[in-house]
Amino acid sequence: MTLIDPFQRAITYLRLSVTDRCDFRCVYCMSENMTFLPKRDLLTLEELDRLCSAFVGLGVRKLRITGGEPLVRRDIMSFFQAMARHLDSGHLDELTLTTNGSQLHRFADDLYAAGVRRVNVSLDTLDADKFARITRWGKLENVLRGLDAAQRAGLAVKLNVVALKGFNEDEIETLLAFCADRDMDLTFIEVMPMGDMGETDRVGQYWALSDLRRQMAQTMTLTDLPDRTGGPARYFRIEETGQRVGFITPLTHNFCESCNRVRITCTGEIYTCLGQEGKSDLRAPLRSGPTDGPLIEAIHKAIGQKPKGHDFDYSRGQEGGKMSRHMSHTGG
Ligand code: SAM
Ligand code: SF4
Repeated sequence: MTLIDPFQRAITYLRLSVTDRCDFRCVYCMSENMTFLPKRDLLTLEELDRLCSAFVGLGVRKLRITGGEPLVRRDIMSFFQAMARHLDSGHLDELTLTTNGSQLHRFADDLYAAGVRRVNVSLDTLDADKFARITRWGKLENVLRGLDAAQRAGLAVKLNVVALKGFNEDEIETLLAFCADRDMDLTFIEVMPMGDMGETDRVGQYWALSDLRRQMAQTMTLTDLPDRTGGPARYFRIEETGQRVGFITPLTHNFCESCNRVRITCTGEIYTCLGQEGKSDLRAPLRSGPTDGPLIEAIHKAIGQKPKGHDFDYSRGQEGGKMSRHMSHTGG
C-alpha cells in the first residue's frame, strides 16, 4: 500500500524528530534561551517505534532521524537497533540521520551496527572561532572527531552547509577542498524563515545559492547532474575535482512538485509541509489503544491534506512565508 497525496505525490520518506533539545544553539535555528517541551510530552521510544513501523507498513522506504540533536536523546541507540528489523526485512531501504556531529564519536560504530550507512553532518565553517559563534555552544574539535569516527566506522558522510552571507562566503573553497580530501559529499542550503530568532537578522544572513553558483563558476567548471536522491537537492559536478555538490534552494528554486516526504515531531504531530503551519496529531490515535487502526486512519487523513508547497520569500526584504515554529521543532 502506498500513501498518495492530493497532488499525486507518493509519500515514501519520513523524517522523525526524536527530541526538540540540542547541545548547540545555532543562530539561524534557535534563540539562545529556548523553552523546550516538558519530557512527559515526548513520545516514548516504543511509541516512536510503533509510529515509524506504521509508516513502513504504509510504504515509507526511507527513514531519517533528526531533531533537535537526535544523538542527545537518552537511549536513542536502542531505537536505531529496533528500526534495523525493517532494513533486515527489506521493507525499508534506508535508515539515516542528520546530526550536528557533537556526539558522533560516541555512536558511530553503533549506528553502523544498526544498519545506518550514511549520515548528514551539519557544519557551516571550519574555523573554530566562527564555529563557536555560529553554534553559540559548540566545539569544532568534537565535530571533527565525530567525522573521523564516522568514516572509520564505514559511514558515508555528507556535510550540510547553510550558506550565510558575511559568514562563510570566504570559506567555500576551503569547505570544498575539505570534503574532496575526505571523500565526503557536500550540500549547501539556503537559510529558511523558521521561527523567531531574537536578534538574528535572517534576511541579512540569506545568501541565494544562485549567487554562490555564479561565484563558483568564476574559478570552476560546473556540470549539472541529473541525479536525484529522493530529496530536494539538485546536484552538479566540479570538473576539476570530480566532486559532486548539492544545492537545496527552497528560496531561489522551489522543489515542492517532487516532494515525497512528511515530518513528525517528537510529540507525534505530523507536518506534511516544512513551510506551512498545518499539522495533525498522531499521538492521540496512537495512544487510543493497542491496535493501529485509528493511527492509520489519522495518517491517511493527514496525507490527504498535504499542501502543494511552501511560500518562503525574502524578495520584499522581509521573512515572507515565515513559520512560527523553529526548525528544531519539525526536524530539519
Ligand atoms: N541538530 C541536527 C543538525 O544540526 O544537523 C539536526 C537538526 S537541524 C534542525 C537539521 C538541519 O537544519 C541542519 O543542517 C541545520 O543547519 C538546518 N537548519 C536549521 N535551521 C535552519 C534554517 N532556518 N534554514 C535552513 N536550514 C536550517
Ligand atoms: Fe541544534 Fe541542529 Fe538547530 Fe544547530 S541546527 S541548534 S545543531 S538542532
